[in-house]
Amino acid sequence: MTVTKSAQAHPCTSCHTNCCKEYTIFVNAHDVYRISSGLGLDPANFLEIYGAKEDEWGIRIEEGLVDLALKQKDEMCTFLIKFGDNFRCGIHDFNPGVCKSYPFQLQDGKLLQMDDKLCPVDWDVEKEFEAMMVNHLKKDENEWKFYHDLILEWNATHQPTAQLSEFLRFLIGKVDISLNENSKK
Ligand code: SF4
Ligand code: SF4
Repeated sequence: MTVTKSAQAHPCTSCHTNCCKEYTIFVNAHDVYRISSGLGLDPANFLEIYGAKEDEWGIRIEEGLVDLALKQKDEMCTFLIKFGDNFRCGIHDFNPGVCKSYPFQLQDGKLLQMDDKLCPVDWDVEKEFEAMMVNHLKKDENEWKFYHDLILEWNATHQPTAQLSEFLRFLIGKVDISLNENSKK
C-alpha cells in the first residue's frame, strides 16, 4: 500500500499484505493507463477478465459482459513481490486507486475504516493523512465515474464481437485525451 502516516507503527508492517492476497483487484481506466504508461507494460499482460458483477458496468466484448481486474499469480496479486519473509507491492507508485485507499471509505463526507477490513490493527489516522485520503477517495470516485461513462460509450458504439485488445486501445485513447484536455485547463 502507498498510504502512510501514523504516530504508531504503520499497520502494513505487521501484516502479511492480506489485502493483496485475499481480494481480486478490479481496475478502472485510469488505473490501467497509469500502470501501462508508468511501467511500459501492455495492459493485456497484467489484466484478467471476469464475468461482469453488474450488467450495467459490464464491458461488452466477444467473451460476453466482463470486468477488468489485475492478474493473479499463486493466488495473489501478480504485482506482489516476496522479499525474504515479507511481501511488498512491486508497483508502488502506480498501484490502483482501490489499493491506495484500502481500508478507507467515505461516508457522508467522513473518512471511515471498513468494518470488515483485513488489517491486523486499526489505523491511527492523523489530520494530514485524513486530508490526503479524503482527496484520494474523491479523485478515485471521479475516475470510476469516468470509467462508467467510457463503458457506456463503448457498448453503444461497438459490436458485441469486438476483442478485448480493441477495448483496451479505446480505453487508453480516452484517458489520453482526457488527461491532455485537463492539462490545458
Ligand atoms: S497492485 Fe500492489 S497494492 Fe495492489 S493488490 Fe497488487 S501488490 Fe497489492
Ligand atoms: S490488509 Fe491492511 S495492514 Fe495489511 S497490507 Fe493491506 S492495508 Fe496494510
